[in-house]
Amino acid sequence: MFDSLSDRLGGVFDKLRGRGALKEQDVRDAMREVRIALLEADVALPVVRRFVDRVTEKAIGQSVLRSVTPGQQVVKIVNDELIETLGGDVTPELDLAASPPVVIMMVGLQGSGKTTSTAKISKLLKDKQGKKVMMASLDVNRPAAQEQLKVLGEQTGVATLPIIAGQQPTEIATRAMQAAKLQAVDVLMLDTAGRLHVDQQLMDEMKAVAAIATPRETLLVVDSLTGQDAVNVAQSFAGEVDLTGVVLTRMDGDARGGAALSMRAVTGKPIKFAGTGEKMDAIEVFHPSRVANRILG
Ligand code: GDP
Repeated sequence: MFDSLSDRLGGVFDKLRGRGALKEQDVRDAMREVRIALLEADVALPVVRRFVDRVTEKAIGQSVLRSVTPGQQVVKIVNDELIETLGGDVTPELDLAASPPVVIMMVGLQGSGKTTSTAKISKLLKDKQGKKVMMASLDVNRPAAQEQLKVLGEQTGVATLPIIAGQQPTEIATRAMQAAKLQAVDVLMLDTAGRLHVDQQLMDEMKAVAAIATPRETLLVVDSLTGQDAVNVAQSFAGEVDLTGVVLTRMDGDARGGAALSMRAVTGKPIKFAGTGEKMDAIEVFHPSRVANRILG
């Protein structure tokens, strides 16, 4: 992840740092290269434009060029702007401040890593925050989806709602709410059905479930390898349900970074978690400043 972007930016900044004094034209030349590097990383064009404009303005407009270490200062400005683009200097926490069971509804397309992320986040809440968690799969479309969650529950030691064949998603959601209340569960994770494409039936089903379960968090799971498509998917979902955050999966793969860098600006939704592998503890809270550091190497 970010490897080629990181290399490209590293090359640009080594050149800048290597020079003692900087002229306005040097900054503009460097920003032209930054622009190309971001576009090659599949970052959305409006995000690239805004990024480059803001960095140029700050670098040229202030006393940066007259300072003793102008190259370093420009890199600092880029670093700050990367953090801003990735979501700002705060770590987005899950909002669990409601009377239990607090419901987290997981949504997304099939294959995005939704079921895996449901189990990973459940495990995280159980192990790191000592929460009593229950998971329920509302996916009645994909054969064995409910079984898959049950197996992951056994692996992670998180309870799952017993499967009753033939129930509809809204019936399962109602049953899950009752069971969670009865068993004094702190957090109920609902893994909703995915489809291959965004479609109205998927959206309607999600809304019906949300009406029953009133989720405190609705997390959209998207695959970072799909680049700008991931951002388009997020925009479609954000227009239909009240998303509270994004889980970006396959950050361990060779995604170029476009999804991570465009997501916040395009959708207005924070990335809350990054999936970093297939194992159950391969998930990280998404810290914009750490990710910016990784990009700048
Ligand atoms: P769903 O259809 O959205 O529920 O997708 P699944 O959770 O079944 O995941 C599909 C595949 O992607 C599985 O083989 C997962 O192990 C894999 N997967 C999910 N998240 C990640 C991740 O962050 N990194 C990697 N490398 N694989 C992942």
